[in-house]
Amino acid sequence: MNTQQIIETEAKYTSGVYSKRPAAMVRGSGAHLWDSDGKKYIDCVGGQGSANIGHSHPAVVRAIAEQAAQLMVATEVFYNDQRAALLEKLVNIAPPQAKINRVFFANSGAEANEGSLKFAKYHTGRQEIVSTMRGFHGRTMGALNATWEPKYREPFAPLVPGVKFIPYDNLDKAAQTIGENTAAVIIEIVQGEGGVRPGTREFVQGIAALAHERGALVILDEIQTGFGRTGKMFAAEHYDIEPDLISVAKSIAGGLPMGAVLISERIRKLDPQIHGSTFGGNPVIAAAANATIEVILQEKLPQRAAELGEYALGRLKRIESPLIREVRGLGLLLGVELKIKVTPVLQALMERGVLALPAGPNVLRLLPPLVIEKGDLDKAMDEIESVLATFESSTLEGSQN
Ligand SMILES: *Cc1c(COP(=O)(O)O)cnc(C)c1O
Repeated sequence: MNTQQIIETEAKYTSGVYSKRPAAMVRGSGAHLWDSDGKKYIDCVGGQGSANIGHSHPAVVRAIAEQAAQLMVATEVFYNDQRAALLEKLVNIAPPQAKINRVFFANSGAEANEGSLKFAKYHTGRQEIVSTMRGFHGRTMGALNATWEPKYREPFAPLVPGVKFIPYDNLDKAAQTIGENTAAVIIEIVQGEGGVRPGTREFVQGIAALAHERGALVILDEIQTGFGRTGKMFAAEHYDIEPDLISVAKSIAGGLPMGAVLISERIRKLDPQIHGSTFGGNPVIAAAANATIEVILQEKLPQRAAELGEYALGRLKRIESPLIREVRGLGLLLGVELKIKVTPVLQALMERGVLALPAGPNVLRLLPPLVIEKGDLDKAMDEIESVLATFESSTLEGSQN
């Protein structure tokens, strides 16, 4: 199929729930993507954060091919070598203070959160969940309910009752809301979809302490922040908190679908049948995840994200544009809040060969693979500066809101 055929066919038969960009991606390597016309892009979308080790990493490609030839299906009613190795790896790399000693496998971020929410209710026998405004936790009915953005939630009401929202960074509200029926608070350390907003140490530690004081659990959503993104293997390590359940997904398996709940030893034994998944812990995906984690450790990607992230944050902050409201980030999770809508900026960047994401209507978000070359990161930031300059004259007037 040529480009036009690909786009026309997809546009004709796709569900319609995505707003798509006019390019068909057919190849990737490291932090580069190529479309069906052979145009090369610097990829700061990074599969929405699922490509931390870069596209088609050879070690992962090999692991997938070998395991696919060996065994593709072995559900969790049996044991499996790849799954065993992965369980051990995840427990070993989990934030030490969380005292993780078990793992549940799912197939996506939303499913990981579903697991965390169910386990929290099961463990505590309590019914309510406290979540945060601008928090994003996924689009299944349960995870959706803990997601703030009314546009995502409201058309599907009634959802699972019992979620209360508090402002992110408001400990007084947290203290008023977390009560004796609170099973868990669920937070991101950096709100990703909600606009790239790192929580303060005071809030993150404070809300975790409040939850524990009142017998509630702390669910940490590390789906976007995990596996090196923020400059540590997990963002929990920045603030030294003790989450009881950690939801992970996105970059866990080199870009293939997998989610997991990392479970603290503080959670009592979970009983058979209370939860499960046919594909969870699939041996091919587990092999991909084993290879991925080896790559993250060997290539010291958390450290690379910390160094490149600090550099990029400084570089972005030096852009003198009246269109920029604020630059925020942690590691290679970077956000540039604009005073204008971000979509036209993203389109202009794409024409210049740089792919970036939105995080809400006004925030430009960069989630490059952590293996991105410094030169490519520079090029991406140069283009952001240059695109904003072209927008300054034309768009500042009349688009202040
Ligand atoms: C992406 C994301 C999810 C949802 O993950 P899916 O795999 O799309 O279901 C949940 N929480 C956070 C923080 C995310 O970034």
